Amino acid sequence: MIEARNIVVGAGAAGLWAAWRLAQQGTEVVLLEKMQQTGTKVLASGGSRCNLTTALDGEQARHAFGKDGARFLRHAFRIMPPQGVRERFAELGVPTEEAPFEKVFPTSGRAVDVRNALERAVRQAGARILCHAAVLEIRRESNAWLLALAGGRKARCRTLLLASGGKSYARTGTTGDGYRWLGALGLPLVPPRPALVPLLSRAPWVSDLAGVTLEHVEIKLCDERGRVLGRRRRPLLFTHTGVSGPGAMDLSEIVSRSIERDGLERQGEPPLELAVDLLPGQSEDSVRILLEQQEGCRATKVLQTLPLRIPRRVFDQVLRQADLIGEGKATILSGKKARSRMLLALKGLRIPVHGTRGFDHAEVTAGGLDLAAVDGGSMRVKGVDDLFVIGELLDLHGPIGGFNFQSAFATAEVAARATPT
Ligand SMILES: Cc1cc2nc3c(=O)[nH]c(=O)nc-3n(C[C@H](O)[C@H](O)[C@H](O)COP(=O)(O)OP(=O)(O)OC[C@H]3O[C@@H](n4cnc5c(N)ncnc54)[C@H](O)[C@@H]3O)c2cc1C
Repeated sequence: MIEARNIVVGAGAAGLWAAWRLAQQGTEVVLLEKMQQTGTKVLASGGSRCNLTTALDGEQARHAFGKDGARFLRHAFRIMPPQGVRERFAELGVPTEEAPFEKVFPTSGRAVDVRNALERAVRQAGARILCHAAVLEIRRESNAWLLALAGGRKARCRTLLLASGGKSYARTGTTGDGYRWLGALGLPLVPPRPALVPLLSRAPWVSDLAGVTLEHVEIKLCDERGRVLGRRRRPLLFTHTGVSGPGAMDLSEIVSRSIERDGLERQGEPPLELAVDLLPGQSEDSVRILLEQQEGCRATKVLQTLPLRIPRRVFDQVLRQADLIGEGKATILSGKKARSRMLLALKGLRIPVHGTRGFDHAEVTAGGLDLAAVDGGSMRVKGVDDLFVIGELLDLHGPIGGFNFQSAFATAEVAARATPT
């Protein structure tokens, strides 16, 4: 029997941080991890560079989590804002630096430094880390939590902190076990959905462009009636199966939500559409004037006059959608209607999307323990004694840019401070 005052389940970003900060207060902590090593997702993150937080301040950062998330994270991002995360890592010997889009990376550019620093901090603070320790069940018995582990082992603690993450990228250890435990306790769960995941498109021209990136675009996600469901000004990447890159991935949770829950595809329904503004800095009026100046020219020539560089093959698709190309030969840009069609295609190139690549390719799981069931001032689960939930297991997800680690660290900090020692 493994016995400790406090047990943290899951040695990912949140669990490592919580175990470290809790043990620093002089209390006994055991950290249980099902994988053979800690922080598997940290190691895989940010292209193995680990975008560990954002350069925004806490107040700005919390608003990246939607209305409910922002409200819930108010306290957490106040006591452990992004700057605080950077300071703690600097103390652990991991200085950080800023990158475009307010991202923050370790100066070394190595995710392994982040994972190693956290693991070292946990051990130096006196906590024990047990890997290959998969928790199967949790049960409340008198004043304690009893845990059944794989291999017939058992564990007992007074206070339990659950940090077992979501159910995306299951190969990193996250198979959604926490949802089962919380569900069995009768707690409300928001159905998990893949988020920060590439989108699927069946349009052949999209896969033909695989490998092409559009750096400076604004993307709107629209439904079949043209209603705008979300928008992002971030790069877009064409792939063999659809579109990826931060712009598409940030909008993917909305696509997931619009699909029948766990499904990957919008079966039998009209596809959603991305409308890509290829000239986001230019007003419609200024583009209209620019096109008027090209009246009577070959439509293909317009490309050279545009204020932003658009890859030739993408521009060909603009011409196609504007009905200005046919049978291999370009058309003359002539008349108001033709100019309007080209304006429309330049300011809203249409990409049909019908689903996402699902949990296997999702960086984050949206959904999880309903925030209404948790006290944001302590991460204590309401109505259940000695139970704390932190990190991605909560119904929290942010966009690409270090927000999800920031939320994992900050919620862990809150729980560590609130846990009785
Ligand atoms: C490829 C990829 C890249 C990413 N890049 C970034 C990035 O650059 N910046 C960013 O902010 N976010 C990034 N994310 C998201 C980020 O990794 C997560 O949001 C974050 O790790 C969540 O932290 P967590 O501690 O809640 O969960 P996790 O880090 O997922 O940790 C959960 C841990 O619990 C363990 N566990 C699960 N079930 C059990 C069980 N039954 N018993 C014992 N242990 C269990 C798991 O093995 C895992 O170690 C990325 C995600 C992926 C997949």
